[in-house]
Amino acid sequence: MDKLAIVVPCYNEEEVLKIASKALREVLADLIQKGKIAEDSCILFVNDGSRDRTWELIEEEHEAYPVQVHGVKLAGNVGHQFALTAGLLTAMEMSDVTISIDADLQDDVAVIEEMIDKFHAGNDIVYGVRKERKTDTFFKRTTAQGFYKLMDMMGVKTVYNHADFRLMSRRAVEEFSKYKETNLFLRGMMPLIGYQTEKVYYDRKERVAGESKYPLKKMLALAFNGISSFSVKPISLILGMGLFIIFAAGLAAVYAFVSYFTGHVVPGWTSMILSIWFLGGLQLLAIGLVGQYIGKIYIEVKQRPRYNIEKVV
Ligand code: UDP
Ligand code: MG
Repeated sequence: MDKLAIVVPCYNEEEVLKIASKALREVLADLIQKGKIAEDSCILFVNDGSRDRTWELIEEEHEAYPVQVHGVKLAGNVGHQFALTAGLLTAMEMSDVTISIDADLQDDVAVIEEMIDKFHAGNDIVYGVRKERKTDTFFKRTTAQGFYKLMDMMGVKTVYNHADFRLMSRRAVEEFSKYKETNLFLRGMMPLIGYQTEKVYYDRKERVAGESKYPLKKMLALAFNGISSFSVKPISLILGMGLFIIFAAGLAAVYAFVSYFTGHVVPGWTSMILSIWFLGGLQLLAIGLVGQYIGKIYIEVKQRPRYNIEKVV
């Protein structure tokens, strides 16, 4: 029977910790009783340098439920993506399959069973996808959707409306562990792993208690990181712009010469206009070209795996 580890990153979550622990323990008990997961399946809380009583609560839970509840304490606050990675890599050592979920129970724990079923049906990654964003504020909804569109335009493959509520098999986490990059954007990395994947749909709920640990500033940082860690398209845009300006400079030159020969201009205007257009275009073109090399270096230094062999016969 497969052992499940539910990974929960927690930053200042003292208000929700016990509630989350209880809800997740119930899910585990139910799945164990149905014979879908191993009896020693567990919850792994990752304390991301909380400044409140989160860690004490995790320890209390572990004492009360030594088999079901475990905890990892990070030495300081490193942010959601790193905390989640720490949890996944720790869970990889002690389980066959992991599910990552936020501590605030916004993601519906009721679909965990469906995730496990899809895992048993041969899927290595099962994405939790939000059906609608009814409970999010208008602002959060539009910014988030704009973000997915932008990512798409920039050529970054992501699963629409999927955050970090996700099942991963042990081998998927092992493959993920080969990605050594420090600029983490997990939901962009998952599609790179390959394997057969599936989605489950759920309604995103409101936080059970406490408030969001993702203020606008962190959201923008995540968005920028997502694009800059996966795409060198912005550099290509500069190159394209350079080419376009050079082309436009040709047109400007025709216009400048026509004006010059028809005598409508003050002295010095023609040479000035020509220099501005051509030098401007040339500079953009040069920056874009240099950027292409920097983009290549950037991709190389990541040392991402180039492929993932699933089977050999
Ligand atoms: N989180 C974390 N470290 C941080 C910020 C957030 O581990 O620096 C955790 C947080 O405890 C929660 C999850 O990441 O379990 C998602 O955060 P939150 O629910 O506040 O984000 P939102 O749902 O508002 O986008
Ligand atoms: Mg939340």
